[in-house]
Amino acid sequence: MSAAYVFGSNAVALDGAGNDIGTRVAEYVQERIANLISIDGNMSVVASTQQALSDLIIKAVAEEWTPIELARAIEQDTAFSAERAELIADTELSAAEYAGALGAMTEAGVEQKAWETDPESDTCDDCAENEDDGDIGIDEPFSSGDFAPPLHPRCVCDLVGVSN
Ligand SMILES: [Zn+2]
Repeated sequence: MSAAYVFGSNAVALDGAGNDIGTRVAEYVQERIANLISIDGNMSVVASTQQALSDLIIKAVAEEWTPIELARAIEQDTAFSAERAELIADTELSAAEYAGALGAMTEAGVEQKAWETDPESDTCDDCAENEDDGDIGIDEPFSSGDFAPPLHPRCVCDLVGVSN
């Protein structure tokens, strides 16, 4: 495989609103956000928030917390803790960047792409499987069903455009 185009995470600026890539990214972000806030989406913030809240309330009842203690715990432990918010922000920005990169590759006439795991970090089986797909068509999904990284929060995989 010869990689003619390598789009790192900073390769595509997302300031191209109005052009084809900007439109594509906007549509992609809207789709992902719809998934994030839908109760049965596979990355649903609503479902994980419900779970976190119900866990806390059950604990508060069992341990006889005061309302103030519970409120503090909710602030610190729900899906909207600073850490969780940061993780969501990182993942969603990365997804938007790769959607932009994929759009840029398509516009540049790149016909194939490959999934590249980071040899320096622990790679999950699903990401490894995507890498094992080798070179696939630019519009085809990888084994996981995704078209580009990230596959999951904290995914550090890269997308490589391939020219023959
Ligand atoms: Zn990954």
